[in-house]
Amino acid sequence: MTKAADVIVIGGGIIGLSIALELRWRGLQVLVLTQDYQNAAANAAAGMLAPQAEEIAPGALLDLCTYSRSLYADWTTKLTMATGLDTGYWECGILAPRYVRPAFPERNRPSDSQITWHSRKELVGHLPTDNLGMEVVGGYWFDTDGQVDNRALYKSIQAAAEFAGVRVQTGVVVTAQDLQDLSQGVNGLVADRYILATGAWSQELLPVPVVPRKGQLIALQVPHEEDLPLNTVLFGTEIYIVPRRDGRIVIGATSEDVGFSTGNTAEGVQGLFDRAIRLCPALAKYPVVEQWWGFRPATPDELPILGHSADPRLILATGHYRNGILLAPATAQIIADLLFDRPHPLLSDCDYRRFIDGNKLSS
Ligand SMILES: Cc1cc2nc3c(=O)[nH]c(=O)nc-3n(C[C@H](O)[C@H](O)[C@H](O)COP(=O)(O)OP(=O)(O)OC[C@H]3O[C@@H](n4cnc5c(N)ncnc54)[C@H](O)[C@@H]3O)c2cc1C
Repeated sequence: MTKAADVIVIGGGIIGLSIALELRWRGLQVLVLTQDYQNAAANAAAGMLAPQAEEIAPGALLDLCTYSRSLYADWTTKLTMATGLDTGYWECGILAPRYVRPAFPERNRPSDSQITWHSRKELVGHLPTDNLGMEVVGGYWFDTDGQVDNRALYKSIQAAAEFAGVRVQTGVVVTAQDLQDLSQGVNGLVADRYILATGAWSQELLPVPVVPRKGQLIALQVPHEEDLPLNTVLFGTEIYIVPRRDGRIVIGATSEDVGFSTGNTAEGVQGLFDRAIRLCPALAKYPVVEQWWGFRPATPDELPILGHSADPRLILATGHYRNGILLAPATAQIIADLLFDRPHPLLSDCDYRRFIDGNKLSS
């Protein structure tokens, strides 16, 4: 049987493509088989790089997220140098306003610095003008969090992969049956290793505990980008507002356990508008330019599944849930290191067997 590539990646979302590109940069021949670029969650996301604002508990997920955030500046610079495309990476910090002052506003986190409460006046100091809703009493400022324009980033990864010589076949739907006997390859295409990166659809191919969690978003457009009312992300309760430098303002997101049910709903969109305008009343006057939805690949413990499957030829890279944009550079590094027999210390925490040994499959 003729070998089609050293590695075949199944799924061309941000995770599959980032891994494919990293492997190609390290000299391997890589083929990506994917159904579609269009349905990838990278087109739906908000692009926040927010391990602090998300208040992820100390542990493997926080370590993975902060490691990935530390890679972002160099990774996006490398992508821009390879393609000439801007990724919209912006170390803009994130404000997390609150309507009620917590009883103990200062919090210590063992693996992170102290979280410091700021008065409303101090928070407003981070904004171009006082654009916070009148009910905001104070909040937190996370200066190391930021954002990337996930759609621009995804395009730049596609272009970089193409320039580097990653081969991509779109319109290919790999089935569970296709993975039954890897000695015969996938769809007759043989490689030394196969990587499963099919996001929210992973359970259709293998019995991994990854389920879709739907998110709806809307976007406004500020007519003159210099009048952007925010220069930082606002991260509220069940709402975030992400201003892009080009004047677009992304507002998200719902979190719904409704399977792969498509479309925006009146309730979903109304809730986003209500919460966004309460947090930042200035938004009320801007035109709505888009509304959309996507599917986060959720695992029971919110950590991705990375590493070997039961078949050593098949490697898993799925279940990045609400942090897949943030985790793309770390995932690419970690999976590439695994293929080069240098397992990263964080890999063992992401092994799929945690759900079997720890009996979390039932949760
Ligand atoms: C509403 C929303 C907001 C988000 N906001 C953020 C955020 O602010 N910050 C952040 O870090 N993350 C965010 N995320 C999460 C992030 O977008 C995802 O975790 C990440 O994009 C998942 O990437 P993936 O490549 O694993 O999966 P996907 O992007 O879903 O890609 C999977 C790919 O596999 C292909 N595929 C599926 N089945 C098959 C098959 N059988 N055969 C062949 N190909 C197949 C699909 O066509 C698709 O291209 C958000 C997600 C959503 C939905």
